[in-house]
This record gives sequence, structure tokens and C-alpha cells, in this order.
Amino acid sequence: MPWLETKDPYKIWISEIILQQTRVAQGWSYYERFIERFPDITSLHKTQESEVLKYWEGLGYYSRARNIKKTADLIFTTYQGKFPDNYPDLLSLPGIGPYTASAIAGFAYDLPYPVLDGNVARFIARFLAVQSPPMEPPGKKIITDFLGSAIKESRPSAFNQAIMNFGALICKPSKPECFQCPFTSDCRAFQLQQTNQLPVTIPKKEKTNRYFHYFILYNPKTDSTVIQQRSGKDIWQNLYEFPLIEHSNTSKHPQQKINSLYTTFELPVPKQKPLHTIYKTQNLTHQKIHFTIQIFHWDGLINDITNNYETVKVTNLSTYGFPVTLSKIVSQFNTLIGPFF
Ligand code: SF4
Repeated sequence: MPWLETKDPYKIWISEIILQQTRVAQGWSYYERFIERFPDITSLHKTQESEVLKYWEGLGYYSRARNIKKTADLIFTTYQGKFPDNYPDLLSLPGIGPYTASAIAGFAYDLPYPVLDGNVARFIARFLAVQSPPMEPPGKKIITDFLGSAIKESRPSAFNQAIMNFGALICKPSKPECFQCPFTSDCRAFQLQQTNQLPVTIPKKEKTNRYFHYFILYNPKTDSTVIQQRSGKDIWQNLYEFPLIEHSNTSKHPQQKINSLYTTFELPVPKQKPLHTIYKTQNLTHQKIHFTIQIFHWDGLINDITNNYETVKVTNLSTYGFPVTLSKIVSQFNTLIGPFF
């Protein structure tokens, strides 16, 4: 874990945000790549948001990357470029909630704020036999109150680290290792024989299905293609994508909607067949995205098209941040268009 090796609040912050959404084994390489490019708050402040999004590509939850950039800028405008060293100021920064503020306060500044991650919540929910979900009120309040009274002022960082490790290694999600646990005589779940029922979980909501139909238009004369930046409050905000029609698969005429893209780009319908049609799905936390990606040979101009489309050289495509499914297409772009031109 990065915080085992550093007291640098910047590095602890970045690792916390990355590890909120991915396992350590996966998140580690993202963390190293990010820190190599942005080794400190100054480098993050001096870059553009688009580059931060590019380095976040594949991690998902892009609002976190945007908040990282906002926070870096705010630290310069409000705190003269120095990371705040107290809990209330940390908590006031964009994208920094009680968990991350506690982690920075505890690991960087040795302040007595308990860290409540999933491992800690599970352990304490069992220890106290909390009968409601541990990361939602009122279960969360019971757990944080208990941790607040239990944390040791003298070694808060060691307390936090120990309790996180205990949850990860002994009081595991399934089959907790009660036979080697020193707390059996105090653990309420153990006493009540509820170690397999606790913590209480929230039933998972069904995911919303969304259908994204993309056109990749390759102009061999100019070796360029067309992209647009996503805007509005939706997934992948500010990332780039190819021309898109979103349609409802249940609607009677999705093809009619898709044909409007043919019209926009003056592709003859239905004469112009795509070079490739690729089908993919991507699972997000609350949504399942069904992709249809069609690749066309196209020699039009976008000057007359009243949209936010941009023409970019294929060689420059990889400098833009794309959602992970499109990013994989970008990395294979030359192979996909190669055999045809
Ligand atoms: S006795 Fe079992 S359930 Fe209770 S804290 Fe120990 S490992 Fe967790």
C-alpha cells in the first residue's frame, strides 16, 4: 500500500482515490503511471484536465479524476500550493469525503481520525453485530462512533493500518477466520452465531441497459477521423468519443435513428456498408452499455456539420481520453483500417 511507504499527503490522496475503485493489484500500475507523470501537486495543477482524464483512462469514475484536478487547482488558489494539514480543510476539498480525509489526516499527519474502508466496516459490523448495512446510516454512524472512541491518540496511523489489515486478512468477507481470531469472546456476531449473516448487505439494483451506436469515419486521404467531446451530466463527462446515436433497443425503429447519422455524414443509405461492425458490452456500476461500433471509409468534410465534431489525425488519436471500450478500438485503429486501404 502506498501509504506504508510515504507520509506525502499528495501520494496518499492519489492512492486512496485510485484504490476506492479498483483492487490494489490492478490499481498499483495506474498509481505508478499517474505519479510518474504527476509527481506532485504542482505538476497536477499545471496540466490540463484532458490530460488528467487521459491518465485516468480505464479506471472509470471519471468524476473523481475531474475532482482531483479541481482540488489541485484549489490548493494553489486557497492554500498557496500546500496540502491542508487538518481534517476540516481536507474534508472541504472537492472529491475528498470523510474516508479520504481521515486517511490523509491519519497516515500523513498522524491525526487521530479513524479510516472506515470496506474491510474495517465489515470487521466492526460483525464485532458489534450491527443489524443494518455498515456503509449506510444508521449502521455507519454506530461504527464511526465506536471507532472514534477506540482509536489511540498515540499511534493513530498504526491503529488504522492494523484494523484495515485485520479486516482484510482475518475478518474476511466470506469464511472469516474466527478460529484464529483473538476477539471471539467480545465479538457479538461470533457469540450470536451470525458471522455468516453479517454485515447486512443491500440488495443490488438491476442495471440500466443503454445502447450506443458509434460511427468511426476514417478518411484515408487525410488519414483522419471524427471525434466529439462528451458534455452534460452523464457518464464519461469530458471524455472523447466517435459520432454517436444512443437508441432504445426496445423502440420499434432504432434503425431510423441510426440512419440519421448516415444523413449527418452524407453516407448513402443503405449502399455504404461498414468496413467492420464490432459489438461489445461494458458493465458500469449501475449501467450496462451495449456498443455497436461501425467503421466506415468516409471522404466528407465536417465544416458544414453543425455539431461539436472535431477532425483529428489518426496519429493524434491516442492523446485524447476515451472511455475504455473506445480506447481499445483506438489502440487497434491502424489494424482495423489497414487491410482496406
Ligand atoms: S470472531 Fe470472527 S467474525 Fe468476529 S471479529 Fe473475529 S474473525 Fe471477525
